[in-house]
Amino acid sequence: CSFSSCDLLQKLLQNIEALRFEIPTPVQMQAIPAAFTGRSLLVSAGTGSGKTASFLVPIVTRCAKINLEHPREQTNPIAIVLTPTRELSMQVEEHAKMLGKGLPFKTVLVIGGDALAGQIHRIQKGMSLIIGTPGRLIDLLMKHDIELVHVSILVLDEVDCMLQRGFRSQVMQIFQALSQPQVLMYSATISQEVEQMAHSMAKDIIYISV
Ligand code: AMP
Repeated sequence: CSFSSCDLLQKLLQNIEALRFEIPTPVQMQAIPAAFTGRSLLVSAGTGSGKTASFLVPIVTRCAKINLEHPREQTNPIAIVLTPTRELSMQVEEHAKMLGKGLPFKTVLVIGGDALAGQIHRIQKGMSLIIGTPGRLIDLLMKHDIELVHVSILVLDEVDCMLQRGFRSQVMQIFQALSQPQVLMYSATISQEVEQMAHSMAKDIIYISV
């Protein structure tokens, strides 16, 4: 299996090449084609597995294809990635920028501790992917500073860690603001609570364990 057998956009393949990702990691080999089916995933994978690219490749593909087919101003997000910490959100954004380089694909980071006004300004300029921590996104949602009607992919990264940090109800609140998105859940450990959360969000889940 290789990245080129996955029917990726040429520009995305070039970006993957520029990152020197030659062979997909086991989680990428399983999760990328599974995500392309449109079904929701529960992936057991931790840091260092290559999990970030395994959800960003399908996200960049979907967003860029939508934006190429229907040129729009990328006003409302198509995808959301929620992480438990600001640092992780920043890493995901960096990764997303490298994978989406040269494609119609914009990202906005929404994290606590950063000036809200600046984030609202960037949101108003439009994006395809929102990356952030649950608390800040809830704030923006409550104040009607963001519109999530077009979101069709929700990624929950390090779900076990999000639950430990008490983000369950905030994550559910964000999920409820969406209309039946594809949910890609990643967790180092799959506890009963993680499973319950997955089942409350999606049916017909594909389980991936590496
Ligand atoms: P992650 O588990 O997503 O935090 O990724 C761990 C590290 O592996 C990151 O530094 C990535 O840049 C790198 N990485 C991800 N996928 C690949 C790949 N297919 N080949 C080589 N390195 C990779």
